[in-house]
Amino acid sequence: MTSRDNQSISVVWFKRDLRLQDHHALHAAWESNNPVLPVYLFEPAIMADSHYSNRHWRFVWQSLLDMEQQLRPLNASFHVSYDDALPFFKRLHQHYQRITLYSYEEVGLACTFERDKQLKAWCKSVGVEWKEFPYAGVIRGLTHRKQWLANWRKQMCSAPVSTPIHKINWETNKTLVTRVPATISAELHRPDEHMQLGGETQAHQTLVSFIDDRHRSYHTQISSPLKSMRSCSRLSPYLAWGNLSVRQVYQAITAVKSPLPRSLQAFISRLHWHCHFIQKFESECEQEFRPVNAAYQRFPYRADEQATQQFKAWCEGNTGIPMVDACMRSVIKTGYLNFRMRAMLVSFLTHYLLIDWRRGALHLAQQFLDFEPGIHYPQFQMQAGVTGTNTLRVYNPVKQAQDNDPSGEFIRKWVPEIAHLDIEDLFAPWQIPPLTQLTLDSPLPPRYVNPVAIPEDIIPPHRDLLWKWRERDDVRKEARRVLHRHSNPG
Ligand SMILES: Cc1cc2nc3c(=O)[nH]c(=O)nc-3n(C[C@H](O)[C@H](O)[C@H](O)COP(=O)(O)OP(=O)(O)OC[C@H]3O[C@@H](n4cnc5c(N)ncnc54)[C@H](O)[C@@H]3O)c2cc1C
Repeated sequence: MTSRDNQSISVVWFKRDLRLQDHHALHAAWESNNPVLPVYLFEPAIMADSHYSNRHWRFVWQSLLDMEQQLRPLNASFHVSYDDALPFFKRLHQHYQRITLYSYEEVGLACTFERDKQLKAWCKSVGVEWKEFPYAGVIRGLTHRKQWLANWRKQMCSAPVSTPIHKINWETNKTLVTRVPATISAELHRPDEHMQLGGETQAHQTLVSFIDDRHRSYHTQISSPLKSMRSCSRLSPYLAWGNLSVRQVYQAITAVKSPLPRSLQAFISRLHWHCHFIQKFESECEQEFRPVNAAYQRFPYRADEQATQQFKAWCEGNTGIPMVDACMRSVIKTGYLNFRMRAMLVSFLTHYLLIDWRRGALHLAQQFLDFEPGIHYPQFQMQAGVTGTNTLRVYNPVKQAQDNDPSGEFIRKWVPEIAHLDIEDLFAPWQIPPLTQLTLDSPLPPRYVNPVAIPEDIIPPHRDLLWKWRERDDVRKEARRVLHRHSNPG
């Protein structure tokens, strides 16, 4: 056992708040006047959770490199350790006599919730004070929404905290860290040109380019899978991993001009949704495992062998429905998909194939670079129609293609094996008569002749089932409870 430094220390534990500005935990640590030790933990137990994939940890890695670059001129560095939280902080506790731990409250998955509970119990048992700060107007332990909106607005309008990082007395103690294994760090270090680059610097550049130029077509191109890549803000990974605070974005946008143009008003409502959904998850985190409307627990999803094969086809972008396949292949490669196309993928899985939303939620969590449990789960359930409170929206992928990819450019890009088809055949190739198929330049791949489900055929019985369930007494009763618990008055 190492002898303890006779020293008080403030430890800032960075989680999904990978920035140095508008950071309450860092600011409070600086105000403590103690040396400040900045820590990020690549936690093997969390990394093993099946929601995550390397793309997330690569983004984190890039964000840490960015912060490291900001700290280097100050002769400070980040303490990046490959450790689960409890053993790491126990080790830390052997070195320092008095530790105060600073972090944000994490609105996370069961794995991080359990880890935090264990850590909290240990902190209490050894006298380590853990100061946690709320996330973007999200209130822990909230039972109703009466004051929620007013509080959110107040948070968004209050001044961001500005921490003079050059004045911080940074602590360095490399003996505490366990190096990330070379096989993992090599993988995380490898750039992926198709994904957005992580880091505070890149986040600010993305925000500025949206404000200066890209926002102009935001509300008209928001649902186009191709054009939204540019016209949407693309801020989601930066918000999900905390390279920007929601408040920084809110204030940068509202400072543009008054009144805000329509495109930016539409954007601001989404920032509100961001926090509204995270609050829903904070208030009822069981949504990771069960429908928020508990009556849907017994909904008769298909779980036979054919459903398993269809699920695999959905995951791989091989369903034979061009728009579904293009969206899935695109998100696998780029980590991004706009809102409407995410909703359509969920609708196809749950309404057309009648496969349990939970199976799809895990798969898409791994693909979305912006995976944020507090948005992902409530949105997934809403689109799957298991809340009992929202209108049931069944998205026909053929109509979505006609409306949002009218030239077929997006489908041709991601499903090259049918790129030779004329536009009138591209969205529903199974309708091409067999004799005409023989005249095509290259034969139609079998899956586009016999897709896993033909939208027109399969939907009526499933739609009836979904609507019938909405009318059930137990679903309605639960819907009233859900509304009472999670909606803002007015
Ligand atoms: C099934 C499903 C799962 C989703 N999972 C996630 C997720 O894990 N992480 C995530 O950030 N978003 C998720 N969304 C919401 C939305 O699709 C993305 O936030 C958006 O597409 C990100 O692109 P953008 O930053 O360019 O969005 P913009 O349209 O520019 O919006 C700006 C910001 O507002 C927030 N936002 C936008 N739309 C929504 C919405 N409908 N609900 C809540 N917040 C919103 C996001 O933080 C986004 O970055 C999900 C939507 C669906 C239907």
